[in-house]
Amino acid sequence: MQPASSPALLNLYDLPRTALGELLAGWGFSAFHRDALWEALYRQQVESLDALEGLLRPELVRLLRERTCLRRLAVHHEAFSSDGYTHKLLLRLHDGQTIETVLMRFKGRATVCISTQAGCAMGCVFCATGQMGLVRHLSPGEIVAQVLHVTGVLRQSGESLRNIVLMGMGEPLHNYDGTMEAVDILVDQLGLAIGPRFITLSTVGVVPGIRRLADEDRPVQLAVSLHGATDAERAALVPVGKRWPLDELMEACRYYSEKRKRRIFFEWTLIAGKNDTPEQAHTLGQLLKGMDAHINVIPLNPTVGYGGTPSAPEAVRAFQDVLASYGLPSTVRQRRGIDIDAGCGQLKAAVERPRRSPPATS
Ligand code: SAH
Ligand code: SF4
Repeated sequence: MQPASSPALLNLYDLPRTALGELLAGWGFSAFHRDALWEALYRQQVESLDALEGLLRPELVRLLRERTCLRRLAVHHEAFSSDGYTHKLLLRLHDGQTIETVLMRFKGRATVCISTQAGCAMGCVFCATGQMGLVRHLSPGEIVAQVLHVTGVLRQSGESLRNIVLMGMGEPLHNYDGTMEAVDILVDQLGLAIGPRFITLSTVGVVPGIRRLADEDRPVQLAVSLHGATDAERAALVPVGKRWPLDELMEACRYYSEKRKRRIFFEWTLIAGKNDTPEQAHTLGQLLKGMDAHINVIPLNPTVGYGGTPSAPEAVRAFQDVLASYGLPSTVRQRRGIDIDAGCGQLKAAVERPRRSPPATS
């Protein structure tokens, strides 16, 4: 028998329900059996194929055991913030790569931040994941398994998951197909049934991906990371700003807005002295004026590979005041759990870098 992690076995978590139906139909099983298996995977959340005994026809369980596997993720490292709200996980994939998943629980509204790639090719200078470079895309099942891991954790205390943000490691629109198949699985009504309004996809501004998202009407909220409102200032922080300049990016955003009639969130990591002056806020205000936009300002979470510091609270407030004068609402998103390296890619960097300072422990 092959070990559960053999690459030759099909990981069931990689398959949206239609694809699972095609697989089972090829073996002579109807949609009824497909749905029974789907409910076992995503409602009951069985953790092994053995647990399917007694739930499905013995012949189907035998075939599943021979040809498929359920690839759950192992905990490589975990940390809890001192306020108890943030639970940061470094999860191990079957090939030994590790990725970050962060569970945040506030006021009964649990949110998970998940990764779509191991590493990232986009190279944003302040981002710990960007500093690592891209290792590989995650498969749909590897994206879904992060959610299953945290729903398992939440079940122990009778909580359920409400929001999913695709803001962990990686650029989701660079792994478009893998990400969208995972979204199909997450929103499926017979399974996890996450409300489409409760999934937010954050992109660095991959223009073809934004246009495709607009055309396909995927059930996600869109967030676009700007960080600079002129090409020169943006490209200094976000190198792909050279490939997709602001006029192309904003044109794609307007296309998305018009087609989908949905508000777009814009993210702006505030770095002292770099992109936090009132003049820069005015330039941003001019850029977004008249759009159905909401700006999330995120004070920089310092990383080992970048010398910048977060903006002072007064600078943050002044920045928001200028945006308000253009009719643009904004919210400050404190990156929770700074004491446990809870910024994107930071736990991995802390655990795996040569030990200059000890990593956070639980
Ligand atoms: N690749 C996507 C999603 C992952 S990053 C994107 O870039 O949008 C999610 C958000 O966290 C982005 O807005 C990113 O710029 C921001 N971010 C990354 N590292 C950060 C840090 N050290 N401090 C503050 N924000 C950071
Ligand atoms: Fe990649 Fe996003 Fe980090 Fe940029 S901020 S390097 S796009 S993960």
